[in-house]
Amino acid sequence: MIDLHTHSLFSDGELTPAELARRFEVAGYRALAITDHGDQSNIDLIIPRLVAFCEEVNRLEGIRLIPGVELTHIRPDAIPVLVGRSRKLGARLVVVHGETIVEPVAPGTNKMAIESSVDILAHPGLITEEEVLLAKKYSVHLELTSRKGHSLTNGHVARLAQRIGAPMILNSDAHAPGDIWPAVRLHELVVAAGLTEADYYTMMKNAQSIVERCLT
Ligand SMILES: [Zn+2]
Ligand SMILES: [Zn+2]
Repeated sequence: MIDLHTHSLFSDGELTPAELARRFEVAGYRALAITDHGDQSNIDLIIPRLVAFCEEVNRLEGIRLIPGVELTHIRPDAIPVLVGRSRKLGARLVVVHGETIVEPVAPGTNKMAIESSVDILAHPGLITEEEVLLAKKYSVHLELTSRKGHSLTNGHVARLAQRIGAPMILNSDAHAPGDIWPAVRLHELVVAAGLTEADYYTMMKNAQSIVERCLT
């Protein structure tokens, strides 16, 4: 299993990166991205530290770690610059905190994130058909999530992405030990969103491709 959207105590997660990695490893995961919440005030602090940590741990056996960031509540016009700055700082995976219906994320965030070619648009809420078409064009993965609240629109995202053929990804958005799901639960989540077993395996393959790209 792979999870490409998690938080450590570099933002609002409960665990150090080392404990987060250890707990995912024990749960049977073989790759993990740490994607703490970032904005103009903190990406220069968070990203280089996660890069150094992941590099050091990846020299050893065990779970593979990817240093990332989740650009969160950035004004849409500033997203392209922040995506570029995050990549320059060493983030191998850039996630944008999409327009979930449970937070006042600025309208236009989904579209700007997609047009900035981020890797993953997290919890995109009531994403429009036009935006899903753009996600397909820019190969931006649309996220289904097990995170409470954000997961309310999984069915909507899944239905549009499947019909249009935009790539999907399944993540936990884990902030605490209780957010780390076993494989069987991930299966249920995909089926609960109206998708099939085949879609589940496609999503697992998508995650694998991202990991290979991030670690080379
Ligand atoms: Zn988020
Ligand atoms: Zn998150």
